[in-house]
Amino acid sequence: MTTICNTLEAVGERIAAACRAAGRNAGEVRLLAVSKTFGADAVQEALQAGQTAFGENYLQEAAAKIDALPGLDIEWHCIGPIQSNKTRLAAGKFDWVQSVDRLKIAERLSEQRPAGMAPLNICLQVNIDGGANKSGVAPQDLPELARAVAALPNLRLRGLMTIPEPAADYAGQLAVHRRARELFDALVAQGLPLDTLSMGMSGDIEAAIAAGSTMVRVGSAIFGSRPPAPAAAAAD
Ligand SMILES: *Cc1c(COP(=O)(O)O)cnc(C)c1O
Repeated sequence: MTTICNTLEAVGERIAAACRAAGRNAGEVRLLAVSKTFGADAVQEALQAGQTAFGENYLQEAAAKIDALPGLDIEWHCIGPIQSNKTRLAAGKFDWVQSVDRLKIAERLSEQRPAGMAPLNICLQVNIDGGANKSGVAPQDLPELARAVAALPNLRLRGLMTIPEPAADYAGQLAVHRRARELFDALVAQGLPLDTLSMGMSGDIEAAIAAGSTMVRVGSAIFGSRPPAPAAAAAD
């Protein structure tokens, strides 16, 4: 029987091999385990295998899971779309929000981050390919948004996150990830102290790492295939 421990090890080997192929140090790429739709038991199993960073898409589901696993050394990342009426929940529950794509959401997260918690780590989600997935700031609007978010008091802007449409082949994956890398480098050149380029999922870990990803977000290759997202949850 394949366990989460086995699949985590296999994903770790893919990351290490991709880093070697790209001449990068394996320590430069973090693994975010995307546990959406899987229960607290699956998170616990991965945690026991040494995985500490977990990504969730649906805020209500995530909040229940986070509450069910108190006092553990887990770093929780929100990677799903956030409506303004859910910012308080996100600000209080997560260590990172990677799906910020407009200033209003960032301002609310900053205002609602509870006093006494560390600043909320933020990635700006970029609509890198103008694909059917319409979430994400347009590349031309990114520099202005980045400067504004970097100035908010209770947030720490860490970098960018992308969810490209599936590409036909490796060359296509590489091309879209390279565009994200260029946007990231341009912001760094403007003086923003960014350290996170969150890109690459189960199907394109290798291309993302070749292009400079510092965090791959991997769900199905660790936890198995998911049922299709329910419409109501996808909208929250
Ligand atoms: C579900 C999801 C992932 C993981 O996708 P897999 O293909 O299962 O690895 C990564 N990032 C985001 C934003 C997701 O919604």
